[in-house]
Amino acid sequence: MKYVIEHMEEGFSEWVILEYSQIIRDVGRENLILTSLPQSTTENDIPQQLRDLGLVWTTDECVTIDGGLKKDAVCLLDPAAEEELSPQDAEKFDYFVFGGILGSHPRVDRTGILRKKYGFAGRRLGALQMTTDTAIRTTKIIIEQQTEFRDIAFIDYPEIKFNKYESTEMPFRYVLDAEGNPVLPKGMLDLIKHDAEQSIDDLLM
Ligand code: SAM
Repeated sequence: MKYVIEHMEEGFSEWVILEYSQIIRDVGRENLILTSLPQSTTENDIPQQLRDLGLVWTTDECVTIDGGLKKDAVCLLDPAAEEELSPQDAEKFDYFVFGGILGSHPRVDRTGILRKKYGFAGRRLGALQMTTDTAIRTTKIIIEQQTEFRDIAFIDYPEIKFNKYESTEMPFRYVLDAEGNPVLPKGMLDLIKHDAEQSIDDLLM
């Protein structure tokens, strides 16, 4: 299976770097390609952490990869799709395309840009918004482990506690690990805490 992320954010924020890094670790560098980077992009524009992990990237659109994609073999993971992704889809599709989009609350339909542009078959992963790394993790479980969506353990809108008094709610659905904790990219907890402390400091200024 090939996982394709159409990069839709400007540049690479810390959040994006941590999400993409985790995705490379999860699916393997040979199974992931980041497409549609701005035309002017050079290797120097790719953050060192992603280069060290062997990120494969291109400025071309996803339709051009591997000599040109056959539309029938491609599935767009789309929160607005009518059909849910199922283990049987492993026989239908070879490529799974995701929006390289940071989630927003309230939800904005930026995946719709990909839906309209390419016309791939769409599949949904339930009704709630996931981060891109969670959407890829969930797709991998359904397609590669042949597990039904309803059999995957998730947590919705988890509360991340920083200390006795402060916490923040993440407005996404996450896969749960064996210990019952939401699976987050390595380093993300620290980044969330850092960002929260920053906003509290800004409020106090
Ligand atoms: N509200 C955002 C949007 O569409 O503009 C959601 C973006 S989400 C953070 C990033 C990507 O993860 C989406 O483009 C989609 O490929 C995938 N994704 C997230 N939640 C999903 C869901 N419930 N069903 C299908 N795909 C999902």
